[in-house]
Amino acid sequence: MPKVHFVIVIIASLLATSFANAPMKPRFAIAIHGGAGTILKSQIAPEQDALYRQKLAEAVEAGYAILERGGTSLDAVQAVVERLEDDSLFNAGKGAVFNSDGKVELDASIMDGQTLKAGAVAGVHHVKNPIRLARAVMEQSEHVFLIGEGAERFAKERGIELVDESYFFTEARWRSLQKAKAKESLTEKEKHGTVGAVALDQFGNLAAATSTGGMTNKKFGRIGDSPIIGAGTYADNETCAISATGHGEYFIRAVVAHDVAALMRYKRLSLKDATNEVVMNKLAKLGGTGGLVAIDRNANIAMPFNTEGMYRASKVEGGKTFVAIYKEEQR
Ligand code: ASP
Repeated sequence: MPKVHFVIVIIASLLATSFANAPMKPRFAIAIHGGAGTILKSQIAPEQDALYRQKLAEAVEAGYAILERGGTSLDAVQAVVERLEDDSLFNAGKGAVFNSDGKVELDASIMDGQTLKAGAVAGVHHVKNPIRLARAVMEQSEHVFLIGEGAERFAKERGIELVDESYFFTEARWRSLQKAKAKESLTEKEKHGTVGAVALDQFGNLAAATSTGGMTNKKFGRIGDSPIIGAGTYADNETCAISATGHGEYFIRAVVAHDVAALMRYKRLSLKDATNEVVMNKLAKLGGTGGLVAIDRNANIAMPFNTEGMYRASKVEGGKTFVAIYKEEQR
């Protein structure tokens, strides 16, 4: 073989082995949360702890399965949130907390990172799965945000399931309301909570979804950050997808979800640095407690919170299911 050919063959085979050994970039991933707060290991019974972990694992795996078979990130985040809305353990849908009138007022939003389209609903009392309605607002109306009676009329027109208010009654949430009214101190779980998911699909598209019952004993008509695009939910393929949870008033004032995206876009911060800056610095300085789940287009995941715990789970292509509750469980 002429010398030059020999050299080419050597270089080609070296390149081939280094490509073969290079770790493959994950093409899809998902991260979810079920609320943040003063969640201490010492205060949670082992059975409760196990139940939360099981539900979180099932939900994240259901979303992952959709992504694995080539489904979209929008479908994955919606499916996860619907599942958690149907579970009375979490403060969204079926398990929503009561406002000061003893009613549920549900808020939800969804955003498509590819088109920057978004849909949101707030203050609905009869919609079984508010996230489904938010998706319909995004895809089947020329609007972004519908509230109360109008949102429910739109749900009816679109054939989205409405239920009697009694569907949302749970003994535990009713007791929390009575405690709040009697000015007894509530655990974080009794006070609030939210569910949310962010995902990257095989097409490189990001999406985020969030749904909540808000805060126990909230004033009638109060809307938190969860349905507000840029506060509780945001997705943009160029930066990240975010779903937040915590004391909504602060998240609105700190414009949490969009702020993370803005730090990435304008200051070129990494997902990790941008989420830390907003949650641990800006939000914390304001007195805002809570956290968020975030993902970028390279399947990096960040799940920072400035409270004792956050119910959270994630799964990246080819990786193991990660589920955690307390601060000491790192990710
Ligand atoms: N962010 C929600 C709200 O303020 C509550 C929560 O996430 O715990 O309505």
